[in-house]
Amino acid sequence: MVEHSKFRDPELARRIAEKLHTIAPESGIVKICHVCGTHEWTITHFGLRSLLPQNIEVIAGPGCPVCVTPASEIDEAVQIALKGVTVTCFGDVLRVPGSEKSLLDAKAEGADVRVVYSVADAIKMAEKEPRKDFAFFAIGFETTAPSTAVEVLKKPPKNISFLVSHRLIPPAMELLTRIEDLRINGFIAPGHVSTIIGLKAYEIFPKLYHMPTVVAGFEPLDVLFAVYMILKQIKNGEARLENEYARAVSWDGNVKAQELMRQTFDISDGEWRGLGKLPLSAFKLKKEYIKYDAREKFGIKIKHGKDLPPGCQCHLVMIGKIKPTECPLFMKVCTPQKPIGACMVGIEGTCRIWAKTINIPV
Ligand code: SF4
Repeated sequence: MVEHSKFRDPELARRIAEKLHTIAPESGIVKICHVCGTHEWTITHFGLRSLLPQNIEVIAGPGCPVCVTPASEIDEAVQIALKGVTVTCFGDVLRVPGSEKSLLDAKAEGADVRVVYSVADAIKMAEKEPRKDFAFFAIGFETTAPSTAVEVLKKPPKNISFLVSHRLIPPAMELLTRIEDLRINGFIAPGHVSTIIGLKAYEIFPKLYHMPTVVAGFEPLDVLFAVYMILKQIKNGEARLENEYARAVSWDGNVKAQELMRQTFDISDGEWRGLGKLPLSAFKLKKEYIKYDAREKFGIKIKHGKDLPPGCQCHLVMIGKIKPTECPLFMKVCTPQKPIGACMVGIEGTCRIWAKTINIPV
């Protein structure tokens, strides 16, 4: 049992911050990128950026699962719902904008869209109402994909299918290394995804991209210490893979969960909202489970969607190129109450986290 207060001790935070100041390079910007909405929440909520030397920037990459889901896949869910199928999804998916409509709009038009807490809840609903068709909108990274896999492998009732929109984190990190004018100097890798895929999944970043990479937990001291570990590598001219979150993450990760995903999904290229198609970044159901594929079952295939409403800068926020406050719509017309872009919808969206945490006059 981990005692979380240990990881929130202000005195320890002060001491790590002091060390950060002694180890940081005196000049030049060092840009450290995380790819996790929960890391962004910790950093923003606890004001960790204010403890860093001025030339150390921690930026947020595409780590919010609902934000990265492209409009075309929201459109698919909306179309399925408007065909009379009961679409089940997690709560923060409801308001994510599609090209024209969100699932909430479809619900307002009379579609049966229901919020569930887990994929198992969706299966139970389908079992209780055998005459209705159900679809589960499966969104999320490698953390949630195993829970979809396990239910598919159990061979659920025929009246439920899956609209699989799971995405993989390492390909998104690779994209960030290729954006030349972003110039990232190190990665903080996401703790919860790493519990599944293990440390080994990030080996390529130091080896191929010479990028110091540290897997970190979600408490304030975890993040501060990860920043320290990256700065230390930079000072020593190294690029290594290190594990700050050893209390939860192993080298191999959760081998059982990986096996479930391997049995259920193939890996294919996938669209990311505003970022285009990333190679080998999406899970899709294997051929043997095609009868559970909602796209096949209901004849849905939407190739292109409108990812960005006019003026929305989500594509730049999601790669850490701009801060939410640099979007002209932020807290003027785009607010948590009336979101315009996906990053203001999801609880792990950078714009929403900033809007909820930072006291900005509306
Ligand atoms: S403030 Fe709204 S419109 Fe602007 S980037 Fe964020 S979510 Fe998109």
